[in-house]
Amino acid sequence: MSTPTDTGVEACSFPCQEQLLSQRSTASSGGAAEKNVVESMRTAPVFHCRLCNRLLDNRGLLLTQIPICNRFTTSKEPVERHDLHLDQCARCQLIQLCEPLPVDKVMPRLPWIKYREPEGHLDSVVDRLLSAHCSKAGSSFGVGPFDQPLLCRLEQRGLSSLVLETRPPQSDGGARFPYLETWQLGLNAAILAGIADTRGKADIVSCRYLLEHCHDPLGALRALRQLVSVDGVLIVEVPDSTKFLAARDFSFIWEEHISYFVESTLRLLAAKAGYAVLDLHRYPGDLEDALVAVLRPSASESGADAAQTCSSQSDLFRSYVSSLPQTRDFVRSSVAAAAGPSGDGVALFGIGHQAVMFVNAFDLSKYVAAAVDDDPNKCGYFPPGLRVPVIPSQALLQDNRIQTCLLAVAPGIEHKIRDKLAPLAERGVQFHSIFAGVPGSLLSRSSSWR
Ligand SMILES: [Zn+2]
Repeated sequence: MSTPTDTGVEACSFPCQEQLLSQRSTASSGGAAEKNVVESMRTAPVFHCRLCNRLLDNRGLLLTQIPICNRFTTSKEPVERHDLHLDQCARCQLIQLCEPLPVDKVMPRLPWIKYREPEGHLDSVVDRLLSAHCSKAGSSFGVGPFDQPLLCRLEQRGLSSLVLETRPPQSDGGARFPYLETWQLGLNAAILAGIADTRGKADIVSCRYLLEHCHDPLGALRALRQLVSVDGVLIVEVPDSTKFLAARDFSFIWEEHISYFVESTLRLLAAKAGYAVLDLHRYPGDLEDALVAVLRPSASESGADAAQTCSSQSDLFRSYVSSLPQTRDFVRSSVAAAAGPSGDGVALFGIGHQAVMFVNAFDLSKYVAAAVDDDPNKCGYFPPGLRVPVIPSQALLQDNRIQTCLLAVAPGIEHKIRDKLAPLAERGVQFHSIFAGVPGSLLSRSSSWR
């Protein structure tokens, strides 16, 4: 962790190549990632855009010394940290991590690390599919852990469905629990060719919430063509980054998300991979919208050139990057004030990867006196980079030190948490969402937030 300055600001928005060089890892993270790193000079690694292959120019944002967000520990021990460098390609505008962490570093060490993705819009997705582009579809495949809810709905409408085992086999002796960081490796030409040989093709192939984890998203989309029948479609669903970029919310940066798509870059990637975009529908979410693309493989695998640019996206990212020092200063001073003279007045409720990133990106660990989550799996574990173990909300209710409770929960369930914590409100505890742009956010008074 970087050392706090008097102002609380670590201006880490750029360029800072030396820092990157000193921290960079040399371990393997899979073929696609290796291809992305070109050792063109003896000391200076350069990174190429995952979409259009242009050289990334190091004008993005650097978060230094961030622990891996799933690395919960049973004792207060130092955890391995790494730098995250987020950049935007000057040509195709894809926002992306310059260098993903190696897969084996990110792989969970605990069996209960799992994530949830939105499902409420899937009835509408199925209606749109079956009433238009897929009215004659008879079969469906899923390729990842979030496809079953869509496939269930397709099955109810008479299609056959199968979630394919695309994950590469792991030989580890049980100390690691492969998840999305490993799953994305399976979306390659060789593995999917083998599956197509044995399982055939389907009229609808679903790939939900996996493309943004891919070290080689272009290769993944190209490989997925092999599973799609003639006249079939590939459904790709990803989170849209526009809202959190516009809100200047830095808790959404995550070492497991390699690409941060918006509508234009998802379209470009699909075109580059040789697909026609039949439909691209946006389903609104409080913090992120969901983008659902219906893609049909074109006759040729060689896709369109992704040379077009979109200046509004470029401006959005530039504003995001430039607002980091000011946002960080504001958050640190606000949380320090809330912690009070004894430094133990702040609780953080909802210990997911965004909460972990929020604390570490803004160097807030010393101000968080209670980390609260009612997931029994997390209870007693130290969240990465925090100095206190997770306690349940019942324990928080007994903690009279707490004067401010920061909420890192989805806005849609915030009212339930507030109800659960009503006794705190009754004794004057303040509640603020950590998420920028949410009513009652800690950041609502920041001049960097509009
Ligand atoms: Zn590019």
